[in-house]
Amino acid sequence: MKISSPHLPNDLLEGLIKGLFPEDACFQVTHIEMTSEEVTLEGTSTQPEGCCPLCSEPASRVHSRYERTLQDLPWSGKRVRLSLHVRRFFCANPCCPRQIFAERLPALTEAQARRTSRLRDALLDIGWALGGEAGARLCRKQAMPVCAATLLAQLRRAGVDELPTPRVLGVDDWISTEAPHWHSSGGPGAASTN
Ligand SMILES: [Zn+2]
Repeated sequence: MKISSPHLPNDLLEGLIKGLFPEDACFQVTHIEMTSEEVTLEGTSTQPEGCCPLCSEPASRVHSRYERTLQDLPWSGKRVRLSLHVRRFFCANPCCPRQIFAERLPALTEAQARRTSRLRDALLDIGWALGGEAGARLCRKQAMPVCAATLLAQLRRAGVDELPTPRVLGVDDWISTEAPHWHSSGGPGAASTN
């Protein structure tokens, strides 16, 4: 079964999409497709310009366009895939060694990542609590497919060297063993993901 966006009222769809993503995620959804296992959102970046990651100079001259695919948090047990049309820019600074750079999507993800930051955080939470193998099993079951090796690699990048030993916890234990804080406000999760 496939459902495409032309069959849904535009205002309803736009309101729904806006509410599901961060306010400053600058992209416009142009098409939605849903199968029994996956929701695919196609969209285009609406950022007015790029910003060179090396010299921070704003840039508006477009070199080329390409499609970037990101996995996002699941919706009602379905995998969610973002397929976004983004740009490569010419750096406007003639002294900058980075002549061309890819558009960044800071509200959604990190450079070269294949998952959104919020999906990465969810995987880290599960991996920290359950470890690689059990964590990956639960992630797959919850429509966030990842292998154990990748989950462990992400934890290492986030600064987790040792996982807690699984045991039965009391309430006091739970309070004192709260997971590390790697969400967007800072902490060890600043490292990039694959
Ligand atoms: Zn530059």
